[in-house]
Amino acid sequence: MFIVLLGPPGAGKGTQARQLAEALGLAHVATGNLLREAVRRREPLGLTAKVYLDRGELVPDGIMGDLIAERLDALDARAGVIFDGYPRTVAQARRLDGELARRGCRVDRVICLDVPAAAIMRRLASRRICPRCGAVYNLLTSPPLQEGLCDACGEQLGHRADDYPEVIRRRLDVYTAEERPLTRYYARRGVLAVIRGDDTPAAVAAAVLAEARRRLALPTAVDQATQATG
Ligand code: AMP
Repeated sequence: MFIVLLGPPGAGKGTQARQLAEALGLAHVATGNLLREAVRRREPLGLTAKVYLDRGELVPDGIMGDLIAERLDALDARAGVIFDGYPRTVAQARRLDGELARRGCRVDRVICLDVPAAAIMRRLASRRICPRCGAVYNLLTSPPLQEGLCDACGEQLGHRADDYPEVIRRRLDVYTAEERPLTRYYARRGVLAVIRGDDTPAAVAAAVLAEARRRLALPTAVDQATQATG
């Protein structure tokens, strides 16, 4: 089962993808995280990608397609994946279709989180990350237990290098330019669902899970109880 999560930067894709992956037992592939990790390790991919990340621009489609193909090879891809941050262009969506088709799979569901631009600016300005373990916090919706420190490892929290107003604006412009063709691409196949992403993380998580389940027709707790007693 292959699910793509779409939405503007700061829509909560990472948080939602992690929870959905856990709920459905799928692998979580977050291209932004893979690129930041490559930058941190000073890998050749990281050195190339850093220039784009720092400017809020997209890393070229060819590089991203190769990265996704490599991840699909590394995972037991037949178990299913949640793609978070990929694809971001129609060319990437086509490459993903090709890579999945080669493995006898396809994109089953695309869930787009819709969040107004004003809310995005507020959210990204209040996002903090842990430079050591990568945990993500939001001072408004999910603050750390102790101010400024990571709950998981105690490290001093910081900003993501691209969470500053000028770069945020560029990332939003890039998203806006690519969003419509990409959602149209998936809408034509009948796999697209758009849900409100500006609710509490828990409410959005419930809506995302309901959407994934509705399409995938997984048995619900009620179905399972009925089967057990029937
Ligand atoms: P994210 O963590 O998803 O917000 O991504 C952070 C940055 O990584 C983006 O602003 C891009 O520079 C780069 N990036 C992540 N995913 C992609 C992708 N699918 N295509 C191109 N660039 C990407």
